[in-house]
Amino acid sequence: KPQIVWLRRDLRMADQPALYAAAQAGPVIPVYVLDDDAAGSHAYGGASRWWMHHSLDSLSKSLGARHSRLILRCGDTVEELTKIVEETGAEVIHAIRHYEPWWRKAQGKLSDAFDLQLYDGNYLLPPGAVTTGSGTPYKIYTPFSKATLEQMPPRDVLPEPETLSHPDSWPKSDALDDWNLLPTRPDWSGGIDAFWQVGEAAAQDRLAEWEGDVAEYDDARNLPSQDGSSRLSPHLHFGEISPAQVWHALKGRRGKGWDVYGKELIWRDYAQNVICQFPAYPTQSYREDFEKLKWRDPKTDADAAADLKAWQKGKTGYPVVDAGMRQLWQTGWMHNRVRMIAASFLIKHLLIDWRHGEQWFWDTLVDADYAQNGTNWQWVAGTGVDSNMFVRIMAPLSQSEKFDAAGYISEYVPELAQLDAPYIHDPEEHGCLPDGYPAKIIGHREARERALDTYKAIKQ
Ligand code: FAD
Repeated sequence: KPQIVWLRRDLRMADQPALYAAAQAGPVIPVYVLDDDAAGSHAYGGASRWWMHHSLDSLSKSLGARHSRLILRCGDTVEELTKIVEETGAEVIHAIRHYEPWWRKAQGKLSDAFDLQLYDGNYLLPPGAVTTGSGTPYKIYTPFSKATLEQMPPRDVLPEPETLSHPDSWPKSDALDDWNLLPTRPDWSGGIDAFWQVGEAAAQDRLAEWEGDVAEYDDARNLPSQDGSSRLSPHLHFGEISPAQVWHALKGRRGKGWDVYGKELIWRDYAQNVICQFPAYPTQSYREDFEKLKWRDPKTDADAAADLKAWQKGKTGYPVVDAGMRQLWQTGWMHNRVRMIAASFLIKHLLIDWRHGEQWFWDTLVDADYAQNGTNWQWVAGTGVDSNMFVRIMAPLSQSEKFDAAGYISEYVPELAQLDAPYIHDPEEHGCLPDGYPAKIIGHREARERALDTYKAIKQ
């Protein structure tokens, strides 16, 4: 009897436990359901849709080369999968387990109605597997990371299924182009197109390149002007590659670079571990007193709305922040150090609720991830489960100098390209503000005082 493989953020053929198990059990029907309503505020944003289009296209071609097909359906996940079961007489639905609240709900309903077989596959260890001595989940990264390391390496990777037999007849499928996932008017995706290769083969190519560079990661990762990180994040998000594949490919590269890199992969597992405990984390400050903080609200305050727009467009007058926000818009990705600086600037310098930033990143990042985005925004804000504090305010100008962002700024802010360090970090202070580049929308000291005073008010 046919076996359905329900695909989500696991768009690969190798090390895909659900596909592997289905292929051993009978003819395989791979299905992807686009269900924006279920995800609500976290339906995929523009940059993710661009990626998804190309990733589905790539997987569909890989399946086609194996005489299989990718069936595309749009609508309510449970209804669509139910229809496919009825149309095909399928016996079992196989899927990799996912933890976004809307997918957990769908998994629950499907397992009530059908034989739903769920597999672990997108994390180093299954979320929930790492617990304290008393069996409770960790809230803080450092002990979580130590306990995870003790259980490494992750499970062995699986090969692609040897054969994929197909059903007697295929259920109907939408055409990918009809989903209109690519931007049309205006088409802002040119920079993204040039920056990325999408799909499982591209992810493996990127990993092979990265094997040669990971040794330098410890030193290079914090320097935005260097290409010092793996850029595997969108491939990992969409499951074009699994973290187990990455771990096993790199673990022979012993040394400081690899040690630090392995811990970054554990941050990814950690973020998921937080979401499993607090499913609404990307939409609610964990520390309740922050609900009382008098954020400047762009919905009711025109100045705050203008500031939010300046931040989104990379026109704050802080070169490193602007370079980051423009890199994000042009390429769908931003360097991690600059993500921290830009996020901190929105929350503390502009005093705008972190959730506005979370939503902008959600719409513009190709690696937008419910868990990683939400936990990182709350970490920067100091509103989350960990010990980072709101009163720790990053100074964007000294961060820019410390991490030598001059080359990065000239790449993404052409108005400043003719300036060298130190002028490029703060042209206004050095009296060399070029035409067309804005003065700072707020001074650093003034912003810092405003943030601290506003914070003090909720502590009284
Ligand atoms: P590398 O440095 O090569 O790291 C390897 C992998 O480890 C990454 O691909 C990623 O999967 C994981 N990783 C690295 N840093 C973190 C981290 N801080 N938290 C969780 N996982 C991490 N990452 C996302 O994948 N999606 C997001 O939506 C996202 N939103 C973020 C929002 C903010 C405000 C901040 C500060 C960080 C965010 N990050 C997010 C984390 C981090 O910036 C990216 O994972 C990283 O920049 C991706 O580039 P890379 O693949 O070259 O990373």
